[in-house]
Amino acid sequence: MEFIKPSDDAKEIAQIHYETMLRALGIWDLMGEEPQKRTPTRVVESFCEFFGNNLEPINFTTFPMSSKTDQMVYVGDIDFAALCAHHHLPFFGKCHVAYYPDKKVCGLSKIPRAIEHFTHGALIQEDVAEALADYLEKKLDPHGVAVAIEAEHTCMSLRGVKKPGHRTVSIVYRGTFNHEKRADDRNTFVHLWRP
Ligand SMILES: [Zn+2]
Repeated sequence: MEFIKPSDDAKEIAQIHYETMLRALGIWDLMGEEPQKRTPTRVVESFCEFFGNNLEPINFTTFPMSSKTDQMVYVGDIDFAALCAHHHLPFFGKCHVAYYPDKKVCGLSKIPRAIEHFTHGALIQEDVAEALADYLEKKLDPHGVAVAIEAEHTCMSLRGVKKPGHRTVSIVYRGTFNHEKRADDRNTFVHLWRP
């Protein structure tokens, strides 16, 4: 589903509702003159930015492989930040991708671009890992794809159990990475980001 940029009228309604929520909770009067007055506007603008950034399609350039190879291509330690679908609080961390090319490879910068594309909106970390793996399988038609996402969820750091510094890891293996006999590939992949 695509996010459609809201009209100025729609944004104004959203700002009024946000202010109403702060007033209902007794927070508004605790906030002081500034930043309180423009805070609802800033919150609404932020939301429009979080949800609207993925409108640009990715120009995912691929190149034919000129040699036959069984090497793994790895691009890792790519920072990302997104909002969690459950609390609309940020989760952030690093994303690591590997694939075994068949007939094509992609421009290396395309992997961070794909990550950027799939980490906007209100998301579930596990879904992001699956969506990235789906996308790379579709675009590269590789022998195998591995995606790992490590993140700290501020909904778990700032509220609830309040455990800052935790790490939630999601790993998706596709194709040869899933084969029983290719445990070494999985170990190599994990070792690249958890040496
Ligand atoms: Zn959450």
